[in-house]
Amino acid sequence: MIGRWRSSIQTFSILALVVIPILNYYDFTFFQGWFQSIAFGGLWIVSPLEGLECILVSRSFYAPLLWGMLIPILLSILLGHVFCSWVCPVNTLQVWTDRLLKPWLKHRNNRFPIPRALLWYVLAAELILAVVLGKPLFVFLSPPGLVGREIMTIIFFRTVAVEGLLLLAILTANLISRRMFCRSFCPLRGVLALLGSKRRLVVTRVEGAGPGCRRCDKSCPLGLQPSIGESESIYCWNCGRCVDACNDGDLKMIWKRSSQKPQDSCLGDEKILR
Ligand code: SF4
Ligand code: SF4
Repeated sequence: MIGRWRSSIQTFSILALVVIPILNYYDFTFFQGWFQSIAFGGLWIVSPLEGLECILVSRSFYAPLLWGMLIPILLSILLGHVFCSWVCPVNTLQVWTDRLLKPWLKHRNNRFPIPRALLWYVLAAELILAVVLGKPLFVFLSPPGLVGREIMTIIFFRTVAVEGLLLLAILTANLISRRMFCRSFCPLRGVLALLGSKRRLVVTRVEGAGPGCRRCDKSCPLGLQPSIGESESIYCWNCGRCVDACNDGDLKMIWKRSSQKPQDSCLGDEKILR
């Protein structure tokens, strides 16, 4: 059920990346940009990491930039890093690759031995490097941004940019271990996950649920174990796959009250979103 909604939004997001440059090509410019900086008329939305980099590098606050960062920041605080699981074209391309190559990916390692905490070191390193070099690196090399930029380059210039090779590398890494880049190497995920660390939308185990079949653990693209509560950790991107995978209804996606502690969240009268 959640999967259908997620697939629809993912497909819509990719379509938007194709339709917007086509409209721009024919001088219709109400919509502009891609998932780094995207504009709907006068409404400008900016990716929080690219915005943060610009602030650090320029050492100044530009009010429209701060306003542009507000919507993704608020969404992440409330919903967690759903941009990754529901919108980001890089994840969508990995999902589609998985479907296409399913027969050959049966023995793929879902828990490649890379420490999860590497994500925070990559984020810190990326920000320090941007400040030292005085260049907003992620503005040029953001994988979700690269997808939009490559599509725009194809439509406007009938060619592809060399940075697109990074996308190929990410898709190849996904064939070795599921979402390898997203799990440990994407600084944007690091920022969004930090923002969503106290999110209100969580996947939680129903009180009294037994040890279960662990089908949920196998379904998790990030190698988390929702069967032992890891869906409430900072690393869960609220894709809802584990909820759909559980035939026993032991996992629910719920809207947590602000006063509620994580361990209480499986109790009682929550609004269940499944
Ligand atoms: S981790 Fe990065 S590349 Fe992966 S889905 Fe999130 S933003 Fe996209
Ligand atoms: S724990 Fe569940 S909701 Fe969280 S990332 Fe894994 S499959 Fe998705």
